[in-house]
Amino acid sequence: MASEAETNPSIPTESALVDGSALAGRALAAAGASHMFGVVGIPVTAVATRAVAAGVRFIAFHNEQSAGYAASAYGYLTGRPGVLLTVSGPGCVHGLAGLSNAWVNTWPMVMISGSCDQADFGKGDFQELDQIAAVKPFVKLALKATSISEIPRLVQTAFATACAGRPGGCYIDLPADVLHQTISETEASSLLSEAANPIPPQVPDIDITEVDKAVSLIRHAARPLIVFGKGAAYARAEGAVKKFVETTGIPFLPTPMGKGLLPDTHELAATAARSLAIGKCDVALVVGARLNWLLHFGKPPRWSQDVKFILVDISKEEIELRKPHVGLVGDAKRVLDLINREIKDDPFCLGRTHPWVEAISKKAKDNVVKMDAQLAKEVVPFNFLTPMKIIRDAISAQGSPAPILVSEGANTMDVGRAVLVQSEPRTRLDAGTWGTMGVGLGYCIAAAIAEPNRLVVAVEGDSGFGFSAMEVETLVRYQLPVVVIVFNNGGVYGGDRRTPEEITGPHKDDPAPTSFVPGAAYHTLMEAFGGKGYRVSTPDELKSALSESFSARKPAVINLVIDPYAGAESGRLQHKN
Ligand code: ADP
Ligand code: MG
Repeated sequence: MASEAETNPSIPTESALVDGSALAGRALAAAGASHMFGVVGIPVTAVATRAVAAGVRFIAFHNEQSAGYAASAYGYLTGRPGVLLTVSGPGCVHGLAGLSNAWVNTWPMVMISGSCDQADFGKGDFQELDQIAAVKPFVKLALKATSISEIPRLVQTAFATACAGRPGGCYIDLPADVLHQTISETEASSLLSEAANPIPPQVPDIDITEVDKAVSLIRHAARPLIVFGKGAAYARAEGAVKKFVETTGIPFLPTPMGKGLLPDTHELAATAARSLAIGKCDVALVVGARLNWLLHFGKPPRWSQDVKFILVDISKEEIELRKPHVGLVGDAKRVLDLINREIKDDPFCLGRTHPWVEAISKKAKDNVVKMDAQLAKEVVPFNFLTPMKIIRDAISAQGSPAPILVSEGANTMDVGRAVLVQSEPRTRLDAGTWGTMGVGLGYCIAAAIAEPNRLVVAVEGDSGFGFSAMEVETLVRYQLPVVVIVFNNGGVYGGDRRTPEEITGPHKDDPAPTSFVPGAAYHTLMEAFGGKGYRVSTPDELKSALSESFSARKPAVINLVIDPYAGAESGRLQHKN
């Protein structure tokens, strides 16, 4: 009588052959990949189907760029590498958008591309490209499988490397001939189990004398400040940050994606007194945030000349680059736990009447009152503020688990950052370190997949939305709870802002480089696939669309028509943050 393995094709027999695609799928599952984003085609379609058979959920996109952005954000949200699968040549090139985004934002990601047959390389094969050379500038490690037996080990190595130390992207190249090679089931199983136990990465000890120095500096500071960023969010340091802030009474300033580690409404939040906080602090404990353009390089005139920085970062190179007064290399949560422990032995707290705390809280309150006065005006046709306030209230009314906010665009992102309230960690995904436009729908999909209990709300400019708008079909196909709100002002910064003197020359009758078709019906794009579309231009219409779509938790696009003359040209880049 035939054994069950022989009659049931899903149970491999020892004599069965396993090809490279099946082995790659099983290696991904073994490495802990629960999801993979990508676009299939020659030669990787079978990698996707085999991975699905091995238990990995495959989210199929229209464009590798969006799938890559999704993989990068998934890595940030889950702490596990987001996986991107692409075809060779052009697919790999499109995927570089996501891979480079992961690198710049320091998020773990693994990109896997098929490539042409090794024997035909250099002869002008179908979609031929030296993909290892193409990915090199953007990865921690680029690996090419030259034979099937290498696949399990390469997958494990790429996964471990993406997360070790400062997170980032890794790349695996799978040539078509390797995907078509076969080995026996026995050999496949033993390769998978050999690869399954990689040596855990060395975690360097945290230098306790530097922790002492840091605590002593903070303790004796007249105007201390803690700044935290998406590195602290990635490290899940929210508990340690809360303990630090609440035991010491030190005001805090989150970077845009650090928002939510502590609620924006916390009484020690210096967000609304940002210029004062960074301009006047004498000791700044900066945790998981680079002193790059977003933080004005830590230099005057935005920071004071003699501010002493204490930098906490997983990357030794980052600390060497910035040359802080005290540098602490290590995981943000672990370092803050040590700092908290040290403080506990000899506690101190600034208290509400401390002149620095009072100054920050007064400034913050004044600015909030000013902003509230602006928000109280109901401006129709819509400016940016009136609808943003309505969106803020609708998001806040959702309570916990708080929705994940995805935001991109110039004015839309700037105004949104000031008005929208973040109350839980890792609930804000925006254009990030690179100011990348086009991340919107990819981030929405990653957020909905990584955090299935949360609603996802995208607040996007019309130009930002346009980069990845076709992925609304992906939202519908997977029935993801994503509501995309498009601030429609007919173009980049809001259409044609040229002076009459600028409109000259033989092409003066062409549309302005900044303008799109006025009155575009973006909501019908969603309706084309069976999702819900709304066109709104008044407060009541917006409120009703938000209430309906938020409770439906189904894919929706709200085409929010705003005055094309509202907002500023080029956003507010001078503020940068
Ligand atoms: P933001 O945009 O919020 O300012 P950045 O991307 O500039 O944040 O900085 C994040 C920093 O966090 C990077 O320098 C990165 O090396 C660091 N980082 C990443 N993971 C950790 C971690 N687990 N602990 C501490 N720092 C981390
Ligand atoms: Mg616009």
